[in-house]
Amino acid sequence: MQKVFGRPQGLTDLPFHYCPGCTHGIIHRLIGEVLEELDIIGDTIGVAPVGCAGFSLDFFACDFVGAAHGRAQAVATGIKRALPDKIVFTYQGDGDIVAIGTSHAIHVAARGEKITSIMVNNAVFGMTGGQMAPTTLAGQVTTTSPYGRDKSLFGAPIDLPKIIATMDGAAYVAAVSVDSPKNIHLAKQALKKAFKVQQAGLGFAFVSILSTCPTNWGMSPVDSLKWLQENMMPIYQMGELKVAEGVKAL
Ligand code: SF4
Repeated sequence: MQKVFGRPQGLTDLPFHYCPGCTHGIIHRLIGEVLEELDIIGDTIGVAPVGCAGFSLDFFACDFVGAAHGRAQAVATGIKRALPDKIVFTYQGDGDIVAIGTSHAIHVAARGEKITSIMVNNAVFGMTGGQMAPTTLAGQVTTTSPYGRDKSLFGAPIDLPKIIATMDGAAYVAAVSVDSPKNIHLAKQALKKAFKVQQAGLGFAFVSILSTCPTNWGMSPVDSLKWLQENMMPIYQMGELKVAEGVKAL
């Protein structure tokens, strides 16, 4: 019998152990497909952070390095500069890249490091128990904001892709979501382009992906997707925020 659907070669055989309904698994699959379709599995080195996204190093079939909290892009910079022929990417949660890692995010974009960074934004610190993150929405209840995030005390959520899109060294910046089949398709297109930008040596490529955390949001997987659509998507700017000259032709 002809096999019409299977696990992409870019993933290992290990079953995902994320919480039920967590969209990390969908994003992993998309990246695994892209690595396979671009035929770069053997040439790719991933860098994992601390947090739930840190589990990613078990699931991709390419080489992987674990970095200290927030430092994945600094480690990726070193690897890429030492091994410029390799495809180097970071896979980071919002609690990692928009909190302790903010300075690295700004500076890799300013320098135009030829790496690809993927941010999975679920608006909380997931692994440590759902604390408020810089990406938490105004009014959002978390374990450290039980009355909702107070904008007058903690400000508005940081929309990192918007900031990165203003940096000269950023060649491609996209903000996507994996809440529906249509958006999953668009997310894959953005991820593929972000890897192609690196293959072409055009500069820094950044893809932010809105994701769910049903466990810490205290919702069912289905309600989580609805919450993401109704609450996160109107706040975070979506789409391709920067497509530099040269990227359009990819
Ligand atoms: S804690 Fe949240 S982000 Fe982490 S695996 Fe569970 S649902 Fe996913």
